[in-house]
Amino acid sequence: MRTIQHHIGGKLYESTSGRTSPVYNPATGEQTASVGLATVEEVNRAVETAAVAFESWKSTSLAQRTSILFAFREIANRHRTDIAAALTAEHGKVLSDATGEVTRGIENIEFACNAAQLLQGSFTQQASRGVDVYTVRQPLGVVAGITPFNFPAMVPLWMYPNAIAAGNTFILKPSEKDPTVNMMVAEMFSDAGLPDGVFNVVHGDKVAVDRLLEHPTIKAISFVGSTPIARYVYQTGTSAGKRVQALGGAKNHMTVLPDADIDVAADAAVSAAYGSAGERCMAISIVVAVGAVANPLVAAIKERIPAIKVGDGTDPESGMGPLITREHRDRVAGHIGQAGADGATVVVDGRQQEVAGEGFFLSPSLIDNVLPGMACYDQEIFGPVLGIVRVDTYEEALSLINSNNYGNGTAIFTRDGGAARQFQLDVEVGMVGINVPIPVPVASHSFGGWGDSLFGDTHMYGPEGIQFFTKAKVITSRWPDPASSSVDLGFPQND
Ligand code: NAD
Repeated sequence: MRTIQHHIGGKLYESTSGRTSPVYNPATGEQTASVGLATVEEVNRAVETAAVAFESWKSTSLAQRTSILFAFREIANRHRTDIAAALTAEHGKVLSDATGEVTRGIENIEFACNAAQLLQGSFTQQASRGVDVYTVRQPLGVVAGITPFNFPAMVPLWMYPNAIAAGNTFILKPSEKDPTVNMMVAEMFSDAGLPDGVFNVVHGDKVAVDRLLEHPTIKAISFVGSTPIARYVYQTGTSAGKRVQALGGAKNHMTVLPDADIDVAADAAVSAAYGSAGERCMAISIVVAVGAVANPLVAAIKERIPAIKVGDGTDPESGMGPLITREHRDRVAGHIGQAGADGATVVVDGRQQEVAGEGFFLSPSLIDNVLPGMACYDQEIFGPVLGIVRVDTYEEALSLINSNNYGNGTAIFTRDGGAARQFQLDVEVGMVGINVPIPVPVASHSFGGWGDSLFGDTHMYGPEGIQFFTKAKVITSRWPDPASSSVDLGFPQND
């Protein structure tokens, strides 16, 4: 059985912990590899290696850093389909979706290639007589990223290109469920000319995460995962004096107003709810149907579901792959039964459309008449289960969304520009789509939710990503004429 090792200082290291985690092909249910989980000493080694690399990397010219990033972009782009194939093999998402993930991830390398402009400071000449003031942004030092299973390539790419472009050195602790793509990426980055120790990959579980959170050398932690762990990472990391951004889970609502085009809205709801088997933090999990739109909309969504072919992600016919593990599949399936018991209407029961074999498959489900207070509304399901909440008015829809603890993404479907404008103004959610069901911002705009979907002040990637991985320094300079110099104990004033 293949063993997945750490990548520290440009070399592979087998974990000595004796603790491992299985990696599966979720489409077949077979274990394909085993990943060694780091000890505290192995994390320490990665941090020490990154700290040594920081000393020279921080002084590297922006021109050189950028040329390495350009080369990395070229290599990653050339291997786009190989990365996507590795991703499908461990995550399960269909190949076209995996390719989309890689493409959206590469966008962040392209953004970071603009480091010279992104890190440009500001200069004020003659702020006072003979005094110039300028602000520069400097790297923090050794920084770390801890990432979830559902976007094993893209979410790490939200973090390390910006961090490294800004002059930091980076330790990635990817999800132990699908770690291979990041081993491929680490090799590609080395091939692009990245000096050893600038980008390191350490595999692990809570032991590794806790060591990263408390290690005094680590200056910042960027985290993406579920809300309970995001909250824990934020509280523990900030208590240890670190800068932390921790993105959590989601329950994204798509509001459909009575004037919306039913077919457009149904296509969008089906794509956004069942794509990647619903294992996206920006997936639509609740459709809020306003007024008379509900009956035709539910019918249009139901009509589209049989056309979704559920199967192995390597089959070009498959539209939806398996879930990540057997346990997760069973947990999601449990929600369907519970929803019925709680009084919701199970319109399509995915448990009844079985897929042959031992893969962790669950076909799409549609649940109508969902209400707050039901588990299928209150909890993040993270699977191919779409709930419909029926409301009478726009105001009720808005109030429902704004009372939800999560605030990652939301969308409105309408042909009324005024209503859409009012919605984006009033809704208390970090990312809003107008006739766009999954409004993941492009790399030049930052990504982040509100409420329990993000702990910390800075959003991820884009301009705020650069801000997160740098600190400002303000320099006030004067070149006085020695002839006019004198002692003055007063507080400096401007003239
Ligand atoms: P998770 O919280 O279980 O794991 C995330 C990371 O934390 C992994 O690296 C994991 O090894 C580590 N971890 C797990 N348990 C830990 C513990 N007890 N102590 C310390 N570290 C621990 O999340 P997941 O299941 O891998 O990913 C799915 C979740 O991520 C969903 O809730 C989804 O909404 C969320 N997510 C959010 C975003 C976003 O942008 N807000 C993006 C992607 C995924």
